[in-house]
Amino acid sequence: MSAAEQVVNVLLEVDHDAHVKAYDRLKQWDAAYDSHKKLAVLKRKALDVFGQLGTAIGYERALAYAGLTRDDVARQIRGANAHGYVGTEQIKGCKNPNCDQKYERFNRRTHRPMEQETCNQCNEPLETLTVPISKQRLELVYGRHIVGVETNDGQTIWFKEPVAP
Ligand SMILES: [Zn+2]
Repeated sequence: MSAAEQVVNVLLEVDHDAHVKAYDRLKQWDAAYDSHKKLAVLKRKALDVFGQLGTAIGYERALAYAGLTRDDVARQIRGANAHGYVGTEQIKGCKNPNCDQKYERFNRRTHRPMEQETCNQCNEPLETLTVPISKQRLELVYGRHIVGVETNDGQTIWFKEPVAP
C-alpha cells in the first residue's frame, strides 16, 4: 500500500467515524425528541385531567356553598350570559398610597399575577384584595366561567366567585 493510499484510507476511516458519530448523535436526539413529544402529549393529557378535576371540585364547592347539589341544577350560567351577576374576585393591589398604580388597581391592565409579591412600580408589597367583578371583566375574563346555575324550580343562584371552565 502506498503512502498516498494509506492517507486516503485514514481519511476515509476518519470520515467514516465522523459520519457514524454524527448519525449516532442524530439517532440519539431523534429518540430524545420522540420521547419528549410522547411525554408532552401524556403530560398535557394529565394536565387536562388535573384541570378538569379542579373545575369539578370548584363547581361542587360552589354548589355546596349555595346549598345545592348537581341534581338541583337545570343549567349552568356562564359569565358571558350572566345578566345581573355581581360576583367578587381576588386581585393583587399596591398598598402604597403614593404609588401611581394604587389608583389603577382595579384596572384590567394593572392586574398582576396572584403570585406576585411586590409592585413593579414602587417595589412595595402588594396586598390581596377582594373586589367586585366589573361588567367588562365579567365579559373579557370570565366569559366562559360558570358564575351560577338555574335550578330545577326556576331560581337563579349566583356563585360568589366564578368557577374556571
Ligand atoms: Zn406600587
